[in-house]
Amino acid sequence: MSLPPLDEPAADLSVDEVKRYSRHLIIPDVGMAGQKRLKNAKVLVVGAGGLGSPALLYLAAAGVGTLGIVDFDTVDESNLQRQIIHGVSDVGKSKAESAKESIAEINPYVKVILHTDRLDSSNVMDIFAPYDLIVDGTDNFATRYLVNDACVLLHKPYVWGSIYRFDGQASVFWADYGPCYRCLYPEPPPPGMVPSCAEGGVLGVLCASIGSIQVNEAIKLIAGIGEPLAGRLMIYDALEMTYRTVRVNKDPDCAICGTNPTVTELIDYDAFCGAVSEEAAEAVVGSTISAKDLAAMLDRGDNIYLVDVREPNEYEIVSIPGATLIPKGEFLNGSALEKMPQDKQIVLHCKSGARSAEVLAVLKNAGFSDAVHVGGGVLAWVNQVDPSLPTY
Ligand SMILES: [Zn+2]
Repeated sequence: MSLPPLDEPAADLSVDEVKRYSRHLIIPDVGMAGQKRLKNAKVLVVGAGGLGSPALLYLAAAGVGTLGIVDFDTVDESNLQRQIIHGVSDVGKSKAESAKESIAEINPYVKVILHTDRLDSSNVMDIFAPYDLIVDGTDNFATRYLVNDACVLLHKPYVWGSIYRFDGQASVFWADYGPCYRCLYPEPPPPGMVPSCAEGGVLGVLCASIGSIQVNEAIKLIAGIGEPLAGRLMIYDALEMTYRTVRVNKDPDCAICGTNPTVTELIDYDAFCGAVSEEAAEAVVGSTISAKDLAAMLDRGDNIYLVDVREPNEYEIVSIPGATLIPKGEFLNGSALEKMPQDKQIVLHCKSGARSAEVLAVLKNAGFSDAVHVGGGVLAWVNQVDPSLPTY
């Protein structure tokens, strides 16, 4: 299926622009008309993070005339492993601002518009409306569904990408011509079922692999060339080094783009990263201690059994002295329960308190009624008790 070009060609290119884009201009399928369409294009990139970094850099270099950036976050040292649009001197600065500066250095002909509010149901329509195309570089389900639903309601195409460890996926969703994200994944997973940010991890270069596919598709849509990834899902395995595509059909019963939609307005889902299930939210009430409380218990030599429910590689980065590592999965499958002492109070912790809350619910169900967890996890420990330790 080929699609009509998203943009009309701009009136002209300056002499400098012709020089700059000459390697595009001599490709027959792009040519002067295609480059002028890029110049006229208005593309919004949601997230100036892992996927947004390479996407913004290549969209700018390609000569997309107007680039919008949605990001409310600031640059952190731990971003630099993959978010290559930011540098050491940008740490602490707004990601949107930092990205804008990098783009100006690559291509001063690009007009950059910054949107530094957190995207939600109240502002997404206004922010998206002026753009021809959205590139979704978000890393959480709440924003992903918001982007999809807004694009369906506004009849706009968007290029989606997702990354996890060594695995990447990408597709083009345009409900007017094919399936949307909900046709593929109808509902977000319930809170507590999603691995928290800390459990995930991503190979830095995977961002470039998937981000460049997204830019490739954006350019094709703008210029109206090639076979867009609409109706197909690209699945990339960096360890096996395989790319495969599977067909995605439009679901006539889709909740938003189907014939009788049930989602007729935008939904603000909970921020999933770190959100916990109802059982966990209940379990922590009255059973949460602070990192300082834990330090005092350890100092006094209280009769406690301190359990770190993170993964072994996280434990290797930083751990609380005296903690026994038993990953969350062993509690969920029940195998850890027999290791729990009956004569000691169990104190759980993880990175930030979400996973330990889930495990606390399991323990309370199993009868360990005096078990507690450390609010804020190992991050709080570093912050409040031992700032000499590393964080991640
Ligand atoms: Zn749909």
